[in-house]
Amino acid sequence: MAFDLPELPYGRGDLAPHISEETLNFHYGKHHNAYVTNLNNLIDGTAHADADLEAIINDASGDASKAGLFNNAAQVWNHTFYWHSMKPGGGGQPHGKIAELIDRDFSSYDKFAEDFKAAGGGQFGSGWAWLVLANGKLEIRKTPNAETPLTEAGVTPLLTMDVWEHAYYLDYQNARPKYMDTFLAELVNWDFANQNLSDAG
Ligand code: MN
Repeated sequence: MAFDLPELPYGRGDLAPHISEETLNFHYGKHHNAYVTNLNNLIDGTAHADADLEAIINDASGDASKAGLFNNAAQVWNHTFYWHSMKPGGGGQPHGKIAELIDRDFSSYDKFAEDFKAAGGGQFGSGWAWLVLANGKLEIRKTPNAETPLTEAGVTPLLTMDVWEHAYYLDYQNARPKYMDTFLAELVNWDFANQNLSDAG
C-alpha cells in the first residue's frame, strides 16, 4: 500500500498573490510529491509497507539508521499540515477558542505574532515554526529540517509555517520576514487551529 500525494484543500492559484501558483507548482507539485515518492520507495517491501504515516514517523524518529525514512515521512506529514494551516482569505486576528488561549498564554495576539515570527526568523537554515498545545498550554516551537513536534509526548501541533527557502523564494526571494508577515496577515487558517484544538479534547 503506497502513500498518495494528499489533495490540496484549495486550488494551486488560490493563495495568490501572497503565495503564487508557481510556488505551489514547485512546493506541492515537486517537493511534497518527491517526499511521497521517496517514502514509498523506502518502505516498499519492508516492515513499514503497511504502516500508517504517524507510526512510521514515530518509529524512525531519533534513529540515525532511519534518518532517510524519518526525513521523508515527516516531510510528507509536515507539508500536508502546512497546506491546511493556510487558506484563501485567511490571516488576521484569531477567533474562537484559539483566540482565548492566545490571550491567556501569550497575553495578546501581537505578542504571539512577535514570538511566532521570531521562531521562524531564528530557525537558521531550513525548518518550521509551530504553534502547539503542550500539556494544555499554547507554546511556540521551531524545528530544523524535517523535525516535527508530532514526535513530542504530550504535544499537539495546531499550526505550522514552512520556513525552508523553497516555501518563499520565488515570491519573496530572501525576504523571509516579509513572507512570515504575509503568512500571519493574509493566509493563516485559524479554523484549522480551532479544529486541532477541538480534536485534542
Ligand atoms: Mn516545504
